[in-house]
Formats: sequence, C-alpha cells, structure tokens
Amino acid sequence: MTIPQERRLVTAIPGPKSQEMMARKQSAVANGVGTVMPVFAAKAGGGVLEDVDGNRLIDFGSGIAVTSVGNSAEAVVRRASAQLQDYTHTCFMVTPYEGYVEVCEQLAELTPGDHAKKSALFNSGAEAVENAVKIARSYTKRQAVVVFDHGYHGRTNLTMALTAKDMPYKHGFGPFAPEIYRVPVAYPYRWLTGPENCAEEAAAQAIDMISKQVGAENVAAIVIEPVLGEGGFIEPAKGFLPRIAEFAKENGIVFVADEIQSGFCRTGQWFACEDEGIVPDLVTTAKGIAGGLPLAAVTGRAEIMDAPHVGGLGGTYGGNPVACAAALGAIETMREQDLNAKARRIGEIMKPRLTALQEKHDVIGDVRGRGAMIAIELVKAGSKDPNPEFTATLAKACHQAGLLVLTTGTYGNVMRFLPPLVIGEDLLNEGLDILEQALATAA
Ligand SMILES: *Cc1c(COP(=O)(O)O)cnc(C)c1O
Repeated sequence: MTIPQERRLVTAIPGPKSQEMMARKQSAVANGVGTVMPVFAAKAGGGVLEDVDGNRLIDFGSGIAVTSVGNSAEAVVRRASAQLQDYTHTCFMVTPYEGYVEVCEQLAELTPGDHAKKSALFNSGAEAVENAVKIARSYTKRQAVVVFDHGYHGRTNLTMALTAKDMPYKHGFGPFAPEIYRVPVAYPYRWLTGPENCAEEAAAQAIDMISKQVGAENVAAIVIEPVLGEGGFIEPAKGFLPRIAEFAKENGIVFVADEIQSGFCRTGQWFACEDEGIVPDLVTTAKGIAGGLPLAAVTGRAEIMDAPHVGGLGGTYGGNPVACAAALGAIETMREQDLNAKARRIGEIMKPRLTALQEKHDVIGDVRGRGAMIAIELVKAGSKDPNPEFTATLAKACHQAGLLVLTTGTYGNVMRFLPPLVIGEDLLNEGLDILEQALATAA
C-alpha cells in the first residue's frame, strides 16, 4: 500500500487547497452535482483517502460501496494497466474481446443458482437495471414492473420511476416512465404493528396490491434490493424476500435482485440474497464489481437473457475492455484475500460497538445491516421521529475529525458505514472512536 494507513490532519477541513478548488467547482460544475465532503482527493488506498492539503481521512464510504477491494488495488491496477497498453476500446458489438466473456463467465459462477446463466455488460448501475427491465419485458411479453417503498434503482428516466424518493432524485424531473407500481417492503423498525409479524404482513399487503391493483399476469418483473441501500440500509424482515420470490415464481414474473450496492462481498456473501437462499431470475451488479472503474452487469437464466433479439441489447462502451480487466482484478482480489470473511469480520467489530453506543444514546433508534454494510438510524430522543438535523450535524463532526462517513435514508436520518473491505482493524476502531466522540459532543 503506497499510502500510509493512518489518519492525519494537517489543516482544518477543508484546507486551503480544497477551498480554492471548491471555488473553481462552484463556477465550472453544475450545482445539481453535489458533494458530501468539501475536500478534493489526491490519492487513496486501503482504508485511507488523502486530500490535496495532505490530510489523511479514514474512509467509511468506499466511494459509495465501490472500492471494496481498496482504491487502486494491486490486481486492478496491474490488469487494467496491461489492458491500457494493448487497446482501450474496440466496442464489443464491433469486434469482441476475451475480457468481456471472462467477466460473464465469472458472473455465472459467482451469482446464486447452478442453472445455465448468461450476462450482458453495461456502464452504470442504472443502465443495468433498465436493461433488466427490457429483458424481463421481452421474455414475458408483459409490461408492468413492481418495485418497493424505500427502493433506489438509479437516476435515468426509467430508474427514477423505479426509485421511491422524490428529493433529491426525482424532484422536478418528471414525467416518469409508466407501468411502474410500488408496494410495501418489510421495514422492521418502522412497521406499524411492530417487527414481529412484519415479514408476513408486508408480504401479504404487497401481494394483495400486485394481485388486485396490477394483476399478476400483467407483471413482467419484480425488482428489489435484498438490502435496500439509499432507502436506509433496510434489511427486509426475514421471510419477506423468499415469499415475494415464491409469488413471482408462481406467477411467471421475473424476480430481479438489484445487488448493485449489496453485492460483491459487501455483506459477507458474494450476494446478499444468499442469506435467505434466494435464487433470483436476474441479478443486477455494478459498484463493487470493478474496483472503481465503471462497469455493470445483468446476469440471469439463459432462457430469459436470450429473449431479446440480436442487436436489442448493447451500447457503445458497455463492458469496456479496461473496465473488464479491472473487474477481473477485483474478483481475483476478493477470492485471494477472502473479502467475504473480511466483511463479516468488519460487521463483528462494528455491530457490538454501535449497539453499545445505542444503549448510551437514545438518538440511535436502530443499528442494522450485515458485514460491511452497516447503519444507524437516528431519531429524536424518546421517539421514532426521524432526526435528519442531528444526522447532518454528526456527519459533519466526523468529517471535521477526519472520518469520511455518508448519510442516507428516505428521511435523511441514517448514517451508513461502507468501509473498504481491506481496511485495517486499527483504522476501523479508530473510526468508531471518532464517531463515539462526535456523538458525545453533538448529543
Ligand atoms: C447505486 C445504485 C444504483 C445505480 O447505480 P449507478 O451506477 O449510480 O447508476 C442502482 N441500484 C442500486 C441498489 C444502487 O445502490
């Protein structure tokens, strides 16, 4: 690792160089493109990100669950650099190359189920989700798509329609694509009758709505995140996902697991849906797949994937050779360093410490997640009322102390932790110390 694995603050956050660049951003970059932390990156690796002023931050964000193998991981750099020397682009639809096929072979091996599988590669998560819908519609010859409360699937027109939250993702950007239907998800912490019967009640409501309002025979696809990411790291109550998957199967509906955030070792499994033994018809992946280079995929049952006509799927850059080489390097790293075990270990360290903090601070309403996809939900003391103001204050205090954390959630009141899976345990604990201090000060 070329960058020392230690936190170091040499200026206030942001430092003078970052402030200067932020002023340039203000005049050159569209306002709609926001930033979490007002510091500019200089280099990053392992669990550390160094800014242009020389401050070294502990990274609990991984660029939103992307650099799970660490930034500029050795195998990613080695394979992508070699590919850069040979050629940068041919377009797979013009003259194919082996790396694309190899990534698809790896995806067939790693995704759940031992049926015949095929894949198609794209550039972004949103593009993968759009293509999963195209494929499901082509296969079923149906149009409706069912999604869930708190779901997030991207920012293109179709995926905005699939995404639940208005601000900031959809506000003022309509009209949205038709034939999208939203049903309840089993969110244990906020289920009105309590967590005990949440799975059954939510599944019954969802299935009733699909059956009565949409008509199961009109539904092409049910699209769900096995752990809902932007919605607030919601783990659907155990039993909910299997019931929905079973309903899809009974009704000839394509069950799509959107594993873009939860996949590739993040939760301590290759894919989060494995925890309940679910075998999706299609899986969408992106984020963690290629160590930071833009790549996304739809993987699934060969007969479904083969439904669209030749030429019906693709895109100029989809499965770019450098991104494919990076993905092969990232997957090699995940296998060789057993990053599933690392993710589980991160969860084993974080969860007890966060639970102990919850006992001390009644602003922490819930601690949840698994592996290295962990969150706390912040509420007004003595209630379950969301507390987005405190969440923002706490995040800012962490940033000032050199800990990069992200917030999320439908109500803006969830602080999420997504450290690179290669982070050292000392840095992980130091990050938690900072959070603990920030909580004590801010509370
Ligand atoms: C990030 C994300 C997307 C969108 O991916 P982009 O690469 O930003 O287009 C879709 N689904 C889920 C679950 C995500 O977390």
